[in-house]
Amino acid sequence: MTAVVYWFRNDLRVSDNPAFTQACVQTDKVLPAYVHDPKHDAQTQWGFERMGAHRKVFLAERLQDLSLQLKALGYELTELRGSPKDALSAFAKKLNTAHIYCEDIAAPEEQDEVAALKACGLKVETLWQSSLLEPADLPFDVRNLPAVFTAFRNKVEKLALKPRDVLSLKADLPESSAERHLKNYFAADFALTYKQTRNQPMNWSPEEHFSTKFSPWLACGALSAPVIYAELKRFEAERGANDSTYWIWFELLWRDYFRLLHLQHGKKLYRKQGLGSVELAKVPDNRQGLKRWCEGRTGEPLVDAGMRELAATGWLSNRMRQVVASYLIYDLQGDWRAGAAWFESQLIDYDVYSNQGNWLYIAGRGTDPRGGRRFNPKMQAQQHDAGGKYQQFWSDIE
Ligand SMILES: Cc1cc2nc3c(=O)[nH]c(=O)nc-3n(C[C@H](O)[C@H](O)[C@H](O)COP(=O)(O)OP(=O)(O)OC[C@H]3O[C@@H](n4cnc5c(N)ncnc54)[C@H](O)[C@@H]3O)c2cc1C
Repeated sequence: MTAVVYWFRNDLRVSDNPAFTQACVQTDKVLPAYVHDPKHDAQTQWGFERMGAHRKVFLAERLQDLSLQLKALGYELTELRGSPKDALSAFAKKLNTAHIYCEDIAAPEEQDEVAALKACGLKVETLWQSSLLEPADLPFDVRNLPAVFTAFRNKVEKLALKPRDVLSLKADLPESSAERHLKNYFAADFALTYKQTRNQPMNWSPEEHFSTKFSPWLACGALSAPVIYAELKRFEAERGANDSTYWIWFELLWRDYFRLLHLQHGKKLYRKQGLGSVELAKVPDNRQGLKRWCEGRTGEPLVDAGMRELAATGWLSNRMRQVVASYLIYDLQGDWRAGAAWFESQLIDYDVYSNQGNWLYIAGRGTDPRGGRRFNPKMQAQQHDAGGKYQQFWSDIE
């Protein structure tokens, strides 16, 4: 009998999970595991913990959802502690197997984890599955990904590329929180006005959604991008397609673009100079500025409101992410990698590709031909918080 370990990484779902399905189909016995790596509890070089409390709570809840779903299919999720190499090799040995299946993650640390498992003699089968579109369906090799997002989107849209079909599971599973969110979002008509509302700084009532809030579920893999696409198409067929419903697809393409950028450039995206050819001069970090920024005490009201919201909730709208990131880089002369590390610590939707890609983009260290995006916080406040309601709301939070 062939038994294998299925290592859940950022794919915490059983529905529409090609890598998990492959393991179940190709082998006789699948033993699902998740690894809590203590390196996420450690301090970063910038002086704060790598995974903050909001992320930890969100992850624990998603593991509970996953565990219930696996149970309904007759599997038991084992949560391990240690580095993936140590924890998984000991687990595999105990179960008398040397075979691991998992999803492929194209970021340096995650690639190193797989390499370390292979180096200790385990057979590791990885499968790429976190994008909306399959890299193999693109009309170019990822090494030739266009340097500009619009060129990439035009190529995709010219060929009318679609995601792969959603894998259907013939089993009655308990509905996960992710599936409930997806259903609730499309049950109302928010998608019809998404393009007009998406730059709002926050929701003003719990029933409202100015943006989709799909990101936390996508980041941990509780929802797959093709499942979201299928729901979007179902919604358009029932309620009509418009500029706003198109714009949800458009934003999901940005998510793919940053994934493909990792497949194209790998480790280069993690240098201080990013994709720039010139190594940057060593200037002292503005550590005091970074601390004030993290705490929401810069003295710039819109920036402070955003940073307080992030620390209090583990979430921030896209527009506010742009404003606070720009402020750290251009006004405080901070290191963009420190900002990216703070977002990694705080955001419940932390996603290595989107976080790194967006920070590089704003810092002008990615592929953007305009070379960086500076947002003037006073003008942003006038445009997106004219009455000061958002700034007032978060100024009251200590
Ligand atoms: C500095 C900075 C850091 C960021 N870090 C992350 C991160 O760690 N994780 C993350 O998921 N997103 C990140 N983003 C992108 C974006 O801000 C969030 O995806 C979005 O705000 C999530 O809210 P939503 O799901 O309601 O998005 P919506 O506006 O409803 O968009 C729908 C989906 O499209 C995708 N998307 C939208 N905008 C972007 C974008 N700019 N880049 C990539 N994908 C996008 C997301 O998957 C999102 O769920 C970052 C943006 C900036 C400026």
